[in-house]
Amino acid sequence: MTSITRLVLKEFAVLVLLIVGITLATSYFFSAEINVVLLFASGFILYFSQALLVASLAREKLPIFWRRTLTPVATYIVESIDEAKNERLLLNCEIDRLKLRATNRKNKMATLVRDFRDSLSVLPDAIIALDRNNRIEWWNKAAGDLIGLSGSIDLKKRIEIFFPSGEFRRYIDNAKESEPVEIVAPAFPDKLLSVRVTPYGDNQRLFQAQDITRVKQLERVRQDFVANASHELRTPLTVIHGYLETLIDQEISNPEQTRSAMAQMYSQTTRIKGIVEDMLTLANLERGEKPRSEWVDIGDLIAQVRLEAQALSGEKDHEISVEEQYRCAINWNPQELHSLISNLVINAVKYTPASGVIKLRWAITTEGGCFSVQDTGIGIERSHLSRLTERFYRVDVARSRESGGTGLGLAIVKHVLGRMGGELSITSEPEQGSCFTCTFPSELVRQIPQ
Ligand code: ADP
Repeated sequence: MTSITRLVLKEFAVLVLLIVGITLATSYFFSAEINVVLLFASGFILYFSQALLVASLAREKLPIFWRRTLTPVATYIVESIDEAKNERLLLNCEIDRLKLRATNRKNKMATLVRDFRDSLSVLPDAIIALDRNNRIEWWNKAAGDLIGLSGSIDLKKRIEIFFPSGEFRRYIDNAKESEPVEIVAPAFPDKLLSVRVTPYGDNQRLFQAQDITRVKQLERVRQDFVANASHELRTPLTVIHGYLETLIDQEISNPEQTRSAMAQMYSQTTRIKGIVEDMLTLANLERGEKPRSEWVDIGDLIAQVRLEAQALSGEKDHEISVEEQYRCAINWNPQELHSLISNLVINAVKYTPASGVIKLRWAITTEGGCFSVQDTGIGIERSHLSRLTERFYRVDVARSRESGGTGLGLAIVKHVLGRMGGELSITSEPEQGSCFTCTFPSELVRQIPQ
């Protein structure tokens, strides 16, 4: 027997008991018609009150013990309502739990996206997210700086507006991964960008641009250096080669001519040696290792270089004087300091005609130690001044070679000073003379007590 059948039978039994009870109680006092009316009335009152009780209990407006007054079917209805209520409660709890989980997930995603954007923001490369129509959706700080994007004005603009060149349009129309293109930065015409556009997501594109100006410059400097160095070495090697060929062919028989050829070859090898030594010095300086330092008496060093310069001057008989304001020492590598000072002083000797005056000065200024070499030599045109410290740069190549120059002296001076945190300044007037001034940072200089 099913539980519903059992329930209906119970309800039926209760009804029968009620009818029998009421009929027995009233038949004694009233006629049969009144008894029937009373029976229906009490049945109506019973089910009306049951309906009220069920409604009140379902809304929890009556204490629980009223359940005991319910008929089996009414009890069943109240229990079913309770069950439905519990299920609804459980469902609500589950919905709340899912909502909370979704909110947490959303917050986590938002944090992840924010962190990701923050990390992209600090990248030195420009990054721009483009939609399927190449419209700008987002960009990082470097993109703002390099490409000149600003605020919300440029949002949703097409990227081609910022790169109007046909080259870029062709590139973006056919852009494939791993194929960057080099384009001038729109906001800075002197900057070169390596641009790459990579597809991602739903037809979106990631625009990346890297500032390669410095890399290109270094590449050019390296190429120029190799070309210049080869050129410099080729000239003396060609001379030596020529003499050797003549000697092998025994075209020179006269001992005097042989001696002259040997002297020429010796002079050319001296030149090669000078170039190679200067190149090695530069290479060592560029390696950037901190040199072994000690306190070097700058007065002694200037005096020693002065003697060397006087010897080099020889018959040109320059008047080389020293002015030393304070006796000082510099905390640096002695070989590098010697190379710095002698390159400047030897240049003054090389580029100052006979009987000229060369003044070597040491002083203390507010910026630190200050060493200058002033000459009354041939001077330099203003247009050359900014390029003098480039490797192998010479105003007059033939003159420099004639005087045994390598074109690397001032590059070495600049490098040594750069490592020390110092500076080189040059003033010059053609036919009047030049003044090369080195400033050394004060933390590397100290006075020697007299
Ligand atoms: P170099 O070995 O040719 O002297 P440097 O690098 O020392 O190479 O100097 C570069 C160029 O600067 C020289 O070739 C010369 O033209 C110019 N220069 C350097 N010092 C002087 C100076 N005191 N007077 C005139 N020109 C100078």
